[in-house]
Amino acid sequence: MINPRRASSVTVLGSTGSIGLSTLAVIAQHPERFHVFALAANSDVDTMFSQCLAVRPRYAVLANEAAAEKLETRLRAAGVDCDVMGGAAALEFVSAHEDVDAVMAAIVGAAGLVSTLGAARAGKKIMLANKESMVMAGPLLINTAQESGAILLPIDSEHNAIFQALPADYSRDMHAAGIRRLILTASGGPFLHASAEALVSATPDQACAHPNWSMGRKISVDSATLMNKGLEVIEAHYLFGANADQIDVVIHPQSIVHSMVEYVDGSVIAQLGNPDMRTPIAHALAFPERVEAGVTSLDLLSAARLEFESPDMQRFPCLRLAYQALEAGDSAPVYLNAANEVAVERFLNHEIALTAIAEIVETVLQELSSVPVQSIDQIVAADRSARACAESASSALNASGRSAVQGSHH
Ligand code: NAD
Ligand code: MG
Repeated sequence: MINPRRASSVTVLGSTGSIGLSTLAVIAQHPERFHVFALAANSDVDTMFSQCLAVRPRYAVLANEAAAEKLETRLRAAGVDCDVMGGAAALEFVSAHEDVDAVMAAIVGAAGLVSTLGAARAGKKIMLANKESMVMAGPLLINTAQESGAILLPIDSEHNAIFQALPADYSRDMHAAGIRRLILTASGGPFLHASAEALVSATPDQACAHPNWSMGRKISVDSATLMNKGLEVIEAHYLFGANADQIDVVIHPQSIVHSMVEYVDGSVIAQLGNPDMRTPIAHALAFPERVEAGVTSLDLLSAARLEFESPDMQRFPCLRLAYQALEAGDSAPVYLNAANEVAVERFLNHEIALTAIAEIVETVLQELSSVPVQSIDQIVAADRSARACAESASSALNASGRSAVQGSHH
Protein backbone atom coordinates (compact mmCIF):
# COMPACT_ATOMS: atom_id res chain seq x y z
CA MET A 1 0.00 0.00 0.00
CA ILE A 2 1.36 3.39 -0.94
CA ASN A 3 0.84 5.99 1.76
CA PRO A 4 -1.44 8.86 0.85
CA ARG A 5 0.75 11.91 0.33
CA ARG A 6 0.97 15.29 -1.25
CA ALA A 7 1.75 15.15 -4.97
CA SER A 8 5.34 16.11 -5.76
CA SER A 9 5.57 19.62 -7.20
CA VAL A 10 7.70 19.72 -10.36
CA THR A 11 9.26 22.51 -12.42
CA VAL A 12 10.00 21.49 -16.00
CA LEU A 13 12.78 23.58 -17.53
CA GLY A 14 12.87 23.09 -21.30
CA SER A 15 9.26 21.88 -21.35
CA THR A 16 8.77 22.48 -25.09
CA GLY A 17 11.72 20.28 -26.08
CA SER A 18 12.07 16.56 -26.61
CA ILE A 19 12.86 15.73 -22.96
CA GLY A 20 10.27 18.25 -21.75
CA LEU A 21 7.52 16.59 -23.81
CA SER A 22 8.49 13.13 -22.55
CA THR A 23 8.52 14.43 -18.97
CA LEU A 24 5.01 15.84 -19.29
CA ALA A 25 3.88 12.55 -20.84
CA VAL A 26 5.09 10.59 -17.79
CA ILE A 27 3.65 13.13 -15.34
CA ALA A 28 0.28 12.98 -17.10
CA GLN A 29 0.08 9.27 -16.31
CA HIS A 30 0.36 9.94 -12.57
CA PRO A 31 -1.72 12.99 -11.61
CA GLU A 32 -1.98 11.78 -8.01
CA ARG A 33 1.82 11.65 -7.65
CA PHE A 34 3.13 14.63 -9.61
CA HIS A 35 1.86 18.06 -10.39
CA VAL A 36 3.49 20.70 -12.57
CA PHE A 37 4.41 23.83 -10.66
CA ALA A 38 6.10 25.69 -13.52
CA LEU A 39 6.90 25.28 -17.18
CA ALA A 40 9.86 27.08 -18.75
CA ALA A 41 11.31 27.32 -22.25
CA ASN A 42 12.94 29.75 -24.63
CA SER A 43 10.51 31.22 -27.18
CA ASP A 44 8.04 28.62 -28.49
CA VAL A 45 4.75 30.39 -27.67
CA ASP A 46 2.44 27.90 -29.41
CA THR A 47 3.74 24.82 -27.62
CA MET A 48 3.94 26.62 -24.29
CA PHE A 49 0.37 27.90 -24.71
CA SER A 50 -1.06 24.42 -25.29
CA GLN A 51 1.05 22.98 -22.45
CA CYS A 52 -0.37 25.64 -20.11
CA LEU A 53 -3.91 24.74 -21.15
CA ALA A 54 -3.20 21.06 -20.50
CA VAL A 55 -1.32 21.16 -17.19
CA ARG A 56 -2.36 24.51 -15.66
CA PRO A 57 0.98 25.41 -14.03
CA ARG A 58 1.26 28.22 -11.50
CA TYR A 59 4.06 29.83 -13.56
CA ALA A 60 4.99 29.80 -17.22
CA VAL A 61 8.38 31.21 -18.15
CA LEU A 62 9.77 32.12 -21.55
CA ALA A 63 13.35 33.37 -21.57
CA ASN A 64 12.54 35.49 -24.59
CA GLU A 65 10.69 38.55 -23.24
CA ALA A 66 8.73 39.33 -26.41
CA ALA A 67 7.54 35.72 -26.58
CA ALA A 68 6.53 35.88 -22.92
CA GLU A 69 4.35 38.91 -23.62
CA LYS A 70 2.60 37.11 -26.47
CA LEU A 71 2.03 34.10 -24.26
CA GLU A 72 0.54 36.24 -21.52
CA THR A 73 -1.90 37.88 -23.96
CA ARG A 74 -3.05 34.52 -25.29
CA LEU A 75 -3.43 32.92 -21.87
CA ARG A 76 -5.44 35.88 -20.64
CA ALA A 77 -7.73 35.75 -23.66
CA ALA A 78 -8.24 32.05 -23.01
CA GLY A 79 -9.04 32.72 -19.35
CA VAL A 80 -6.11 30.66 -18.03
CA ASP A 81 -4.94 31.69 -14.58
CA CYS A 82 -1.15 31.40 -14.75
CA ASP A 83 1.63 33.85 -13.93
CA VAL A 84 3.76 34.48 -17.00
CA MET A 85 7.35 35.58 -16.52
CA GLY A 86 9.90 36.61 -19.15
CA GLY A 87 13.69 36.68 -19.11
CA ALA A 88 16.48 34.36 -18.04
CA ALA A 89 16.31 35.36 -14.36
CA ALA A 90 12.80 33.89 -14.15
CA LEU A 91 14.25 30.43 -14.94
CA GLU A 92 16.12 30.48 -11.66
CA PHE A 93 13.07 31.83 -9.83
CA VAL A 94 10.91 28.84 -10.79
CA SER A 95 13.66 26.29 -10.16
CA ALA A 96 14.52 27.60 -6.67
CA HIS A 97 10.97 28.48 -5.52
CA GLU A 98 10.15 27.16 -2.04
CA ASP A 99 7.03 25.34 -3.26
CA VAL A 100 9.04 23.20 -5.71
CA ASP A 101 10.17 19.67 -4.82
CA ALA A 102 11.78 18.54 -8.06
CA VAL A 103 13.26 20.22 -11.13
CA MET A 104 13.62 18.65 -14.55
CA ALA A 105 16.70 20.42 -15.96
CA ALA A 106 16.12 19.94 -19.69
CA ILE A 107 17.21 23.22 -21.24
CA VAL A 108 19.76 22.56 -23.96
CA GLY A 109 23.31 23.88 -23.67
CA ALA A 110 25.04 26.41 -21.44
CA ALA A 111 21.73 28.30 -21.22
CA GLY A 112 20.70 25.71 -18.61
CA LEU A 113 23.59 26.28 -16.22
CA VAL A 114 22.27 29.06 -13.98
CA SER A 115 18.84 27.50 -13.41
CA THR A 116 20.35 24.07 -12.71
CA LEU A 117 22.73 25.64 -10.21
CA GLY A 118 19.83 27.56 -8.68
CA ALA A 119 17.96 24.30 -8.10
CA ALA A 120 21.11 22.83 -6.52
CA ARG A 121 21.52 25.80 -4.19
CA ALA A 122 17.87 25.54 -3.15
CA GLY A 123 18.21 21.86 -2.23
CA LYS A 124 15.84 20.46 -4.85
CA LYS A 125 15.71 17.00 -6.35
CA ILE A 126 17.35 17.69 -9.71
CA MET A 127 16.63 15.46 -12.68
CA LEU A 128 19.61 16.34 -14.84
CA ALA A 129 19.17 16.08 -18.60
CA ASN A 130 21.20 19.23 -19.29
CA LYS A 131 24.58 17.47 -19.46
CA GLU A 132 26.27 20.68 -20.62
CA SER A 133 25.84 22.20 -17.15
CA MET A 134 27.63 19.21 -15.59
CA VAL A 135 30.43 19.44 -18.17
CA MET A 136 30.86 23.16 -17.48
CA ALA A 137 30.46 23.18 -13.72
CA GLY A 138 30.72 19.61 -12.42
CA PRO A 139 32.58 20.24 -9.14
CA LEU A 140 30.61 23.42 -8.36
CA LEU A 141 27.29 21.72 -9.06
CA ILE A 142 28.13 18.66 -6.98
CA ASN A 143 29.52 20.64 -4.03
CA THR A 144 26.56 22.99 -4.09
CA ALA A 145 24.16 20.03 -4.08
CA GLN A 146 26.04 18.38 -1.22
CA GLU A 147 25.90 21.54 0.88
CA SER A 148 22.18 22.12 0.35
CA GLY A 149 21.08 18.49 0.41
CA ALA A 150 19.96 18.60 -3.22
CA ILE A 151 19.78 15.20 -4.95
CA LEU A 152 21.19 14.84 -8.47
CA LEU A 153 19.54 12.14 -10.56
CA PRO A 154 20.90 11.62 -14.07
CA ILE A 155 18.43 11.55 -16.97
CA ASP A 156 20.97 10.86 -19.71
CA SER A 157 20.11 7.22 -20.46
CA GLU A 158 23.72 6.06 -20.02
CA HIS A 159 24.20 7.77 -16.66
CA ASN A 160 20.79 6.73 -15.49
CA ALA A 161 21.75 3.15 -16.38
CA ILE A 162 25.02 3.42 -14.45
CA PHE A 163 23.23 5.00 -11.51
CA GLN A 164 20.88 2.01 -11.46
CA ALA A 165 23.81 -0.45 -11.65
CA LEU A 166 25.76 1.19 -8.79
CA PRO A 167 25.41 0.27 -5.10
CA ALA A 168 22.57 2.25 -3.49
CA ASP A 169 24.97 3.97 -1.07
CA TYR A 170 27.57 4.80 -3.74
CA SER A 171 29.52 7.94 -2.88
CA ARG A 172 31.74 8.71 -5.89
CA ASP A 173 34.56 6.41 -4.78
CA MET A 174 35.14 3.70 -7.41
CA HIS A 175 37.84 1.96 -5.40
CA ALA A 176 35.83 1.75 -2.17
CA ALA A 177 32.86 0.32 -4.06
CA GLY A 178 34.98 -2.31 -5.81
CA ILE A 179 34.37 -0.88 -9.27
CA ARG A 180 36.91 -1.40 -12.03
CA ARG A 181 35.37 0.71 -14.79
CA LEU A 182 32.27 2.27 -16.29
CA ILE A 183 31.29 1.27 -19.81
CA LEU A 184 29.25 3.85 -21.70
CA THR A 185 27.40 2.59 -24.73
CA ALA A 186 26.94 4.76 -27.83
CA SER A 187 24.63 4.12 -30.77
CA GLY A 188 27.27 5.52 -33.13
CA GLY A 189 24.72 7.91 -34.63
CA PRO A 190 23.54 8.17 -38.23
CA PHE A 191 27.08 8.11 -39.71
CA LEU A 192 28.42 5.09 -37.86
CA HIS A 193 29.75 3.47 -41.03
CA ALA A 194 29.83 6.53 -43.31
CA SER A 195 33.02 7.27 -45.24
CA ALA A 196 35.23 10.23 -44.34
CA GLU A 197 34.03 11.95 -47.56
CA ALA A 198 30.37 11.43 -46.67
CA LEU A 199 31.01 13.07 -43.30
CA VAL A 200 32.36 16.18 -45.05
CA SER A 201 29.20 16.62 -47.13
CA ALA A 202 26.67 15.58 -44.46
CA THR A 203 23.70 17.97 -44.17
CA PRO A 204 22.00 19.08 -40.94
CA ASP A 205 18.90 17.04 -41.78
CA GLN A 206 20.97 13.91 -42.30
CA ALA A 207 22.82 14.55 -39.06
CA CYS A 208 19.54 14.97 -37.17
CA ALA A 209 17.99 11.75 -38.47
CA HIS A 210 19.07 9.55 -35.59
CA PRO A 211 18.50 5.80 -36.01
CA ASN A 212 17.19 5.08 -32.47
CA TRP A 213 16.31 8.30 -30.67
CA SER A 214 14.25 11.35 -31.57
CA MET A 215 15.97 14.32 -29.92
CA GLY A 216 16.54 18.06 -30.20
CA ARG A 217 18.77 19.23 -33.06
CA LYS A 218 21.82 20.17 -31.00
CA ILE A 219 22.15 16.81 -29.25
CA SER A 220 21.38 15.05 -32.54
CA VAL A 221 24.39 16.71 -34.17
CA ASP A 222 26.46 15.86 -31.08
CA SER A 223 25.42 12.22 -31.52
CA ALA A 224 26.45 12.33 -35.18
CA THR A 225 29.96 13.61 -34.32
CA LEU A 226 30.25 11.49 -31.13
CA MET A 227 30.77 14.73 -29.18
CA ASN A 228 27.66 13.67 -27.28
CA LYS A 229 29.56 10.64 -26.02
CA GLY A 230 32.54 12.84 -25.23
CA LEU A 231 30.36 15.16 -23.15
CA GLU A 232 28.94 12.07 -21.46
CA VAL A 233 32.42 10.80 -20.56
CA ILE A 234 33.06 14.10 -18.78
CA GLU A 235 29.59 14.00 -17.20
CA ALA A 236 30.33 10.47 -15.91
CA HIS A 237 33.68 11.60 -14.52
CA TYR A 238 32.07 14.29 -12.38
CA LEU A 239 28.90 12.41 -11.47
CA PHE A 240 30.54 9.14 -10.47
CA GLY A 241 34.11 10.09 -9.53
CA ALA A 242 35.64 7.94 -12.28
CA ASN A 243 38.95 8.89 -13.92
CA ALA A 244 39.24 9.16 -17.69
CA ASP A 245 41.01 5.79 -17.86
CA GLN A 246 38.16 4.16 -15.91
CA ILE A 247 35.54 5.20 -18.46
CA ASP A 248 35.30 3.18 -21.67
CA VAL A 249 33.07 3.84 -24.64
CA VAL A 250 31.70 1.02 -26.75
CA ILE A 251 29.54 1.38 -29.85
CA HIS A 252 26.29 -0.56 -29.52
CA PRO A 253 24.07 0.25 -32.52
CA GLN A 254 20.86 -1.26 -31.08
CA SER A 255 20.80 1.09 -28.03
CA ILE A 256 19.31 -1.60 -25.79
CA VAL A 257 22.14 -1.92 -23.27
CA HIS A 258 22.18 1.65 -21.94
CA SER A 259 25.52 1.34 -20.09
CA MET A 260 27.37 -0.91 -17.64
CA VAL A 261 29.37 -1.01 -14.42
CA GLU A 262 32.21 -3.51 -14.12
CA TYR A 263 33.22 -4.62 -10.61
CA VAL A 264 36.64 -5.94 -9.57
CA ASP A 265 35.31 -9.50 -9.27
CA GLY A 266 34.51 -9.48 -13.00
CA SER A 267 30.78 -8.89 -12.60
CA VAL A 268 29.34 -6.52 -15.19
CA ILE A 269 25.96 -5.03 -14.33
CA ALA A 270 24.01 -3.51 -17.20
CA GLN A 271 20.66 -1.76 -17.50
CA LEU A 272 18.65 -2.72 -20.58
CA GLY A 273 15.46 -1.40 -22.09
CA ASN A 274 13.89 -0.02 -25.22
CA PRO A 275 15.48 3.26 -26.30
CA ASP A 276 12.81 5.53 -24.82
CA MET A 277 13.65 8.49 -22.58
CA ARG A 278 10.45 8.02 -20.60
CA THR A 279 12.24 5.18 -18.75
CA PRO A 280 15.02 7.28 -17.16
CA ILE A 281 12.56 10.15 -16.68
CA ALA A 282 10.08 7.94 -14.81
CA HIS A 283 12.95 6.41 -12.83
CA ALA A 284 14.09 9.83 -11.63
CA LEU A 285 10.60 11.23 -11.05
CA ALA A 286 9.56 8.35 -8.79
CA PHE A 287 12.97 7.58 -7.25
CA PRO A 288 13.43 5.53 -5.13
CA GLU A 289 10.08 4.03 -6.08
CA ARG A 290 9.06 2.83 -9.55
CA VAL A 291 6.15 3.96 -11.70
CA GLU A 292 4.70 3.00 -15.06
CA ALA A 293 6.42 5.00 -17.83
CA GLY A 294 4.26 4.00 -20.79
CA VAL A 295 7.22 2.18 -22.34
CA THR A 296 6.60 -1.15 -24.07
CA SER A 297 8.29 -4.29 -22.77
CA LEU A 298 11.68 -5.09 -24.20
CA ASP A 299 11.29 -7.86 -26.77
CA LEU A 300 14.68 -9.57 -26.72
CA LEU A 301 13.62 -12.09 -29.36
CA SER A 302 12.77 -9.45 -31.91
CA ALA A 303 15.91 -7.47 -31.01
CA ALA A 304 17.69 -10.83 -31.52
CA ARG A 305 21.19 -9.41 -31.72
CA LEU A 306 23.19 -7.08 -29.51
CA GLU A 307 26.36 -5.90 -31.24
CA PHE A 308 29.40 -4.07 -29.88
CA GLU A 309 32.36 -2.43 -31.61
CA SER A 310 35.03 0.07 -30.73
CA PRO A 311 34.58 3.76 -31.61
CA ASP A 312 36.64 5.14 -34.51
CA MET A 313 38.49 8.17 -33.14
CA GLN A 314 39.91 8.98 -36.61
CA ARG A 315 36.55 9.61 -38.22
CA PHE A 316 35.09 10.91 -34.96
CA PRO A 317 37.82 13.11 -33.42
CA CYS A 318 35.34 14.85 -31.10
CA LEU A 319 35.42 11.85 -28.77
CA ARG A 320 39.21 12.01 -28.59
CA LEU A 321 39.06 15.78 -27.96
CA ALA A 322 36.66 15.27 -25.06
CA TYR A 323 39.01 12.78 -23.40
CA GLN A 324 41.82 15.26 -24.01
CA ALA A 325 39.84 18.07 -22.35
CA LEU A 326 39.04 15.81 -19.40
CA GLU A 327 42.73 14.98 -18.95
CA ALA A 328 43.68 18.67 -19.18
CA GLY A 329 41.08 19.47 -16.51
CA ASP A 330 40.23 22.88 -15.02
CA SER A 331 38.54 25.03 -17.67
CA ALA A 332 39.27 22.72 -20.63
CA PRO A 333 35.84 21.01 -20.51
CA VAL A 334 34.21 24.47 -20.47
CA TYR A 335 36.18 25.39 -23.61
CA LEU A 336 35.26 22.10 -25.28
CA ASN A 337 31.57 22.60 -24.59
CA ALA A 338 31.46 26.27 -25.62
CA ALA A 339 33.41 25.71 -28.84
CA ASN A 340 31.16 22.80 -29.70
CA GLU A 341 27.99 24.84 -29.12
CA VAL A 342 29.25 27.59 -31.42
CA ALA A 343 30.34 25.13 -34.11
CA VAL A 344 27.13 23.08 -33.99
CA GLU A 345 25.07 26.24 -34.38
CA ARG A 346 27.12 27.21 -37.43
CA PHE A 347 26.72 23.72 -38.88
CA LEU A 348 22.96 23.81 -38.34
CA ASN A 349 22.92 27.18 -40.16
CA HIS A 350 24.72 25.58 -43.14
CA GLU A 351 27.78 27.76 -42.55
CA ILE A 352 30.35 25.02 -41.95
CA ALA A 353 30.77 21.32 -42.68
CA LEU A 354 30.05 18.68 -40.04
CA THR A 355 33.75 17.81 -39.95
CA ALA A 356 34.65 21.44 -39.18
CA ILE A 357 33.08 21.06 -35.75
CA ALA A 358 36.03 18.97 -34.51
CA GLU A 359 38.51 21.32 -36.23
CA ILE A 360 37.07 24.32 -34.42
CA VAL A 361 36.99 22.57 -31.07
CA GLU A 362 40.58 21.42 -31.52
CA THR A 363 41.73 24.95 -32.40
CA VAL A 364 40.05 26.38 -29.31
CA LEU A 365 41.58 23.73 -27.04
CA GLN A 366 45.00 24.51 -28.52
CA GLU A 367 44.69 28.28 -28.29
CA LEU A 368 43.30 28.65 -24.78
CA SER A 369 45.26 27.40 -21.83
CA SER A 370 43.37 25.76 -19.04
CA VAL A 371 42.84 27.79 -15.86
CA PRO A 372 41.17 26.80 -12.57
CA VAL A 373 37.43 27.47 -12.54
CA GLN A 374 35.77 27.41 -9.14
CA SER A 375 33.12 30.11 -9.21
CA ILE A 376 30.24 30.64 -11.59
CA ASP A 377 31.89 33.90 -12.71
CA GLN A 378 35.08 32.08 -13.69
CA ILE A 379 33.08 29.46 -15.55
CA VAL A 380 31.08 32.09 -17.43
CA ALA A 381 34.29 33.94 -18.31
CA ALA A 382 35.90 30.74 -19.65
CA ASP A 383 32.75 29.99 -21.65
CA ARG A 384 32.79 33.48 -23.13
CA SER A 385 36.43 33.42 -24.20
CA ALA A 386 36.01 30.00 -25.81
CA ARG A 387 32.96 31.22 -27.73
CA ALA A 388 34.90 34.21 -29.06
CA CYS A 389 37.80 31.96 -30.04
CA ALA A 390 35.44 29.48 -31.74
CA GLU A 391 33.69 32.27 -33.67
CA SER A 392 36.96 33.50 -35.12
CA ALA A 393 38.16 29.96 -35.83
CA SER A 394 35.00 29.18 -37.78
CA SER A 395 35.11 32.47 -39.67
CA ALA A 396 38.73 31.72 -40.57
CA LEU A 397 37.73 28.29 -41.86
CA ASN A 398 35.02 29.81 -43.98
CA ALA A 399 37.30 32.53 -45.33
CA SER A 400 39.81 29.91 -46.42
CA GLY A 401 36.93 28.00 -48.00
CA ARG A 402 38.38 24.84 -46.59
CA SER A 403 35.45 23.63 -44.62
CA ALA A 404 32.61 25.59 -46.17
CA VAL A 405 29.63 23.52 -47.17
CA GLN A 406 29.47 22.69 -50.86
CA GLY A 407 26.62 24.65 -52.42
CA SER A 408 24.69 27.22 -50.46
CA HIS A 409 21.54 26.11 -48.72
CA HIS A 410 20.27 29.56 -47.83
P1 NAD B 1 15.38 20.35 -27.45
O1 NAD B 1 16.12 21.22 -28.39
O2 NAD B 1 14.33 19.45 -27.97
O3 NAD B 1 14.72 21.25 -26.30
C1 NAD B 1 15.45 22.25 -25.67
C2 NAD B 1 14.57 22.99 -24.68
O4 NAD B 1 15.36 24.01 -24.08
C3 NAD B 1 13.37 23.69 -25.34
O5 NAD B 1 12.27 23.65 -24.47
C4 NAD B 1 13.85 25.14 -25.48
O6 NAD B 1 12.80 26.10 -25.48
C5 NAD B 1 14.70 25.27 -24.22
N1 NAD B 1 15.70 26.33 -24.33
C6 NAD B 1 16.67 26.46 -25.28
N2 NAD B 1 17.38 27.58 -25.05
C7 NAD B 1 16.86 28.16 -23.94
C8 NAD B 1 17.14 29.35 -23.22
N3 NAD B 1 18.13 30.20 -23.59
N4 NAD B 1 16.40 29.63 -22.13
C9 NAD B 1 15.39 28.80 -21.75
N5 NAD B 1 15.07 27.67 -22.39
C10 NAD B 1 15.80 27.36 -23.48
O7 NAD B 1 16.50 19.52 -26.66
P2 NAD B 1 16.34 18.08 -25.96
O8 NAD B 1 16.64 17.02 -26.93
O9 NAD B 1 15.07 18.04 -25.19
O10 NAD B 1 17.59 18.14 -24.96
C11 NAD B 1 17.55 18.89 -23.76
C12 NAD B 1 18.75 18.54 -22.90
O11 NAD B 1 18.66 17.17 -22.54
C13 NAD B 1 20.10 18.69 -23.63
O12 NAD B 1 21.06 19.12 -22.71
C14 NAD B 1 20.40 17.28 -24.09
O13 NAD B 1 21.77 17.04 -24.19
C15 NAD B 1 19.81 16.47 -22.96
N6 NAD B 1 19.44 15.10 -23.35
C16 NAD B 1 18.49 14.90 -24.28
C17 NAD B 1 18.14 13.60 -24.66
C18 NAD B 1 17.06 13.33 -25.67
O14 NAD B 1 16.72 12.17 -25.90
N7 NAD B 1 16.46 14.33 -26.28
C19 NAD B 1 18.82 12.52 -24.08
C20 NAD B 1 19.80 12.76 -23.13
C21 NAD B 1 20.10 14.07 -22.76
MG1 MG C 1 22.92 9.88 -23.58
